Amino acid sequence: MAKLRSVKGMNDLLPSEIPRWHRLEQVFRDTVHRYGFGEVRTPVVEPTELFVRGIGDTTDIVEKEMYTFEDKSEKSLTLRPEGTASCVRAYLEHAVGNVEPVSKWYYIGPMYRRERPAKGRYRQFYQAGCEIYGDPGPYVDAELIDLVVTYLGRLGITDVEVLINSLGSGDARARYRQALLDYLRPRAAELSEDSQRRLERNPLRVLDSKAAQDQAIAAEAPSLLDHLDDEDRAHFDGLIATLDAFGTPYRVEPKLVRGLDYYTRTLFEVKARSADLGAQSTLCGGGRYDGMIGDLGGPPTPAIGFAIGLERLLISLPDETPAPTLDAFVVVQRPELAVEGAKLARELREAGLRVDADLRGNSMKSQLRRADKSGARYAVVVGERELAEGSVQLKDLHAGTSTSVARAALNETLAGE
Ligand code: AMP
Repeated sequence: MAKLRSVKGMNDLLPSEIPRWHRLEQVFRDTVHRYGFGEVRTPVVEPTELFVRGIGDTTDIVEKEMYTFEDKSEKSLTLRPEGTASCVRAYLEHAVGNVEPVSKWYYIGPMYRRERPAKGRYRQFYQAGCEIYGDPGPYVDAELIDLVVTYLGRLGITDVEVLINSLGSGDARARYRQALLDYLRPRAAELSEDSQRRLERNPLRVLDSKAAQDQAIAAEAPSLLDHLDDEDRAHFDGLIATLDAFGTPYRVEPKLVRGLDYYTRTLFEVKARSADLGAQSTLCGGGRYDGMIGDLGGPPTPAIGFAIGLERLLISLPDETPAPTLDAFVVVQRPELAVEGAKLARELREAGLRVDADLRGNSMKSQLRRADKSGARYAVVVGERELAEGSVQLKDLHAGTSTSVARAALNETLAGE
């Protein structure tokens, strides 16, 4: 029989790896709570139409990366490839804008894209992200970028580059699109197949292409920043002034467009400088999407968000996070004392201690070996005589010493460490 394996590009995370994940998640939660964000949890499956309309039908994600299937009612469903469209759907479905002028949401969870797996690129991957609805910026734009840099800094990931750009909005965006088309059309034959196909519908995507022939043409293309109107320009200047006031490092990158169609005005990326991630060095991508809520049938509402890839952060983490150790390991002198051992472990856990025991009936020597390996500071030995005396034997596994402790004083002795 063929061996059962996980789906290609989708990984198991075993308990030994989880402490590092917890650290990423805890520091993220703690950081975003400081900025007033509340958590949202949306389903991992959504109607396909949400992503087609929300993300855009000329994006790589919608064109070729979605896990889409028909459910029994022949409705097309899709495993979410990103979090923003789902958040917007939930925001509209619950009419949150009617009760809150500004909403600040965050999420942590798995996303699904049928990409070619590589280091830092998977088919199921985790993103942590934030979304702000109802604030047109630019101060919150700067705050969000600063939040990402602060979060990475708290994890010890400091060797990063922050790229920012403005895509403009409304007329300015349309004017730029025309200027870009005028530049690209005469060069169409030299573009990659994908870019040729998308040229008329979404010329901006050519700037984002990974194909070498497209990149050479993109390098000489007209700049977005030259086409901003006065309001877009004032917004971008406000963002830069705020980042400067914070002392947040950044670099203006006029060719930055990113792979999703919905962005307007502020766009940003945070890249790791270390070589570990190779081509997958983008840790975080984000931007403003002032048009999406209106496009999905809601009242026009300014919005901005970002998403960070947690696997890429793990690869960039400078240090090993030690596994949390047990406080105590319960050992029984004879197999007949197993119930007493289990009871003692239970009582210690109730007192808030992390406790394990090995009650399979093995020798004391074998149990003590497991206690040693577990990383627990203490072994608590339950013996016949001690039981009668209302005490236990406490072995300090680090110091190699052993003392008799009254059962009544045990919780306190252990908790005091
Ligand atoms: P995006 O939603 O495409 O803007 O991506 C935001 C971040 O999510 C990226 O910067 C990556 O860190 C992460 N990410 C996107 N796609 C993948 C993937 N296939 N595997 C792992 N991480 C990903």
